[in-house]
Amino acid sequence: MMIVKDWCSYCGCCAGVCVRNCIEVKETALVFDENCNNCGFCVDACPLAALEMEE
Ligand code: SF4
Ligand code: SF4
Repeated sequence: MMIVKDWCSYCGCCAGVCVRNCIEVKETALVFDENCNNCGFCVDACPLAALEMEE
């Protein structure tokens, strides 16, 4: 699962690249559903480096 850093701007870029469509951008929160397979595309897509893969 992903860790979202404080500096996330909720721009939605990460949600746009998720092939499983499992990131939902709520106003000041990102919601990841159980379809996440930890592929890391969203981590790489974030322009602010605000996502981190949980160990
Ligand atoms: S791409 Fe980065 S800054 Fe934008 S919503 Fe996703 S985690 Fe937040
Ligand atoms: S790790 Fe992959 S499947 Fe999970 S939210 Fe990010 S892009 Fe989607």
